[in-house]
Amino acid sequence: MLGVDLKIDPNAPLRVLCLGAHSDDIEIGCGGTLLKLSARYPRLAVDWIVFGASGARGDEARASAQDFLRAVESKAIRVYDFRDGFFPYAGAQIKDHFEELKRASAPDLILTHYRNDLHQDHRLLCELTWNTFRDHLILEYEIPKYDGDLGAPNFFVPLDEPTIQQKIKLLLEHFGTQRSKDWFTADTFRALLRLRGVEARAPTQFAEAFYARKIIFSRNPDSTL
Ligand SMILES: [Zn+2]
Repeated sequence: MLGVDLKIDPNAPLRVLCLGAHSDDIEIGCGGTLLKLSARYPRLAVDWIVFGASGARGDEARASAQDFLRAVESKAIRVYDFRDGFFPYAGAQIKDHFEELKRASAPDLILTHYRNDLHQDHRLLCELTWNTFRDHLILEYEIPKYDGDLGAPNFFVPLDEPTIQQKIKLLLEHFGTQRSKDWFTADTFRALLRLRGVEARAPTQFAEAFYARKIIFSRNPDSTL
């Protein structure tokens, strides 16, 4: 299996936009990928936006984002307080934030929720991502949950053991309000990474997985495949 590379000069800037509905979504869905990108691209610039985290959960979201992006040169972390579970009923105000993002940012890569996620807040953010960004590389990450909506992703990022340990350690450290939830455990996170590693035949055995709906192969017509 040939791998697909971003084909970006490691010393050139790489702008990533991460979108998450709740305080821990970005970390669970693509925290390892962000750690890997930050190790590879010294000039990584990240916009990290959490739409629904207030009070203690907002504080957790900000502290966790700071830690996940510790090695990132340029970062902007924003946390809004839209009500958990009610995003579809606040769609106009949330869309206003996307309109603002469209004017203010030109990301190379966007990480967002999965289109068929069964949480309505996640689904709305995915829909607005595709409405807003019409010529961008978008990868949709997955969140395990009670509803059972895991599917068959088609884009994999192999992760090594130190990156996995760092991802899980930061998740467990930062999200004290989630610790009472029976699913919020190291073995849940590791199990999903291991299964995706099997599907990717990852040399490290572990991978994060995404849905890539559009991948343009060799966009520059003068370049070889
Ligand atoms: Zn969520």
